[in-house]
Amino acid sequence: MRNHNSRRSFISQAAIAATLSPLSIFGQGYERAIDRIPKVSSPSSLKITAVKCGYIRGSLFVKIYTNQDIWGCGEAVDAVAGTYYLVKILGARIEGQSPLNVHRLFEDIRKSGFFQGAQSGMYVAVLSAIETALWDLAGKALGLPVYQLLGGKFRDKVRVYCDTALYQYNLPTATDFAEAALDAKKMGFNAIKFDLDQANDPNKYDRYNWTANAAELQRMYDQLAAARQAVGPNIDICADMHGRYDAVTAHAIAKRLEPLNLMWLEEPVPAENIEVYKLIADSTTTPICVGENQYLAYGFRRMLEIGAVDIVMPDLQKCGGLGEGQRIANLANLYYIPFAPHMVASFLGAMASVHVCAAVPNFMILEWQRYFHSQPMFREIVSYDGEWVKKGYITVSEKPGIGVEINESGMKKYAVPGMPFFE
Ligand SMILES: [Mg+2]
Repeated sequence: MRNHNSRRSFISQAAIAATLSPLSIFGQGYERAIDRIPKVSSPSSLKITAVKCGYIRGSLFVKIYTNQDIWGCGEAVDAVAGTYYLVKILGARIEGQSPLNVHRLFEDIRKSGFFQGAQSGMYVAVLSAIETALWDLAGKALGLPVYQLLGGKFRDKVRVYCDTALYQYNLPTATDFAEAALDAKKMGFNAIKFDLDQANDPNKYDRYNWTANAAELQRMYDQLAAARQAVGPNIDICADMHGRYDAVTAHAIAKRLEPLNLMWLEEPVPAENIEVYKLIADSTTTPICVGENQYLAYGFRRMLEIGAVDIVMPDLQKCGGLGEGQRIANLANLYYIPFAPHMVASFLGAMASVHVCAAVPNFMILEWQRYFHSQPMFREIVSYDGEWVKKGYITVSEKPGIGVEINESGMKKYAVPGMPFFE
């Protein structure tokens, strides 16, 4: 009783003192002393204050603000149109919380959205951008690059392949393929990707039927053969069919391309029926690569279990983010399957992916876009003080967080009209 009384007496005296002199609240001196220690932030009291976003072309950029004047940025692609209110709703769920518990916040959002579609699509794409921004923020708060938070790096630089993006041409010819291959080789890349699907191939009989006829198969072979001849046997070549064809075509083209020794053939059929991939992969020596249209590690479980693919290519800007990307890589590694992420984001997304690629043993190669070098927008929307790519490799950033910042003023002129811009 005596102790109780003295405690009450002490508390009331402290309260009186605090009322009389707000600057001398008990314990505040200790807190001030902690805050005087040189560090990047005060991680223990870091709180999320707002989540905002902006849209350009195919990308969603999420920015997470805190009470300590540091922020984190993340990017999502493809499944992002119409997601503004989803960003606001998911953002509201994490406001007031510490951004440092990245896996916990990811799991809170994923599990609470089970009946809202948190298994795939737009929901997981937005979650990917938020999750990535949390890693960027955690790295900045703790003064560490993201790869370090993921457990450290296996490599200092990450190999990339040059996606030639010839789909931007109208009906590219075999000569176009050869020239694009030589161009990429001259730029220092030792791996190149081409698209084989042509919706407007004049040889097609029916735009809804995706059985490639003899002339289409010959066109595909001639295009890739020209690229192979141009660059020789030691440059890796891969080919994407964007999930457009049927199983008959997939079997035929995979077999036909065997002499060209491809690094992989990508999504020859749509992504939903993974058992068909098993039949294709079993029928050819051309390696089969799938994954940019799968979501979460769950999306990769069955294909790995049944041996349906030779290489996995999750898109880390839509499959669930960086932690989920690492989980997918580790899952694939149990089956000795290489990890070759798809990447159609900005340089922010590219470097975010690089941190995961550095942090897993079975990393094979990451996608890079030829248009990064020709379209000024990509330089204007981000800021980074290092070289982007050198002789086919990206050096892993050592700066806190991802290491790349979005440039909102540069981005504004490319903002999707009619959409809120970081409001
Ligand atoms: Mg693809």
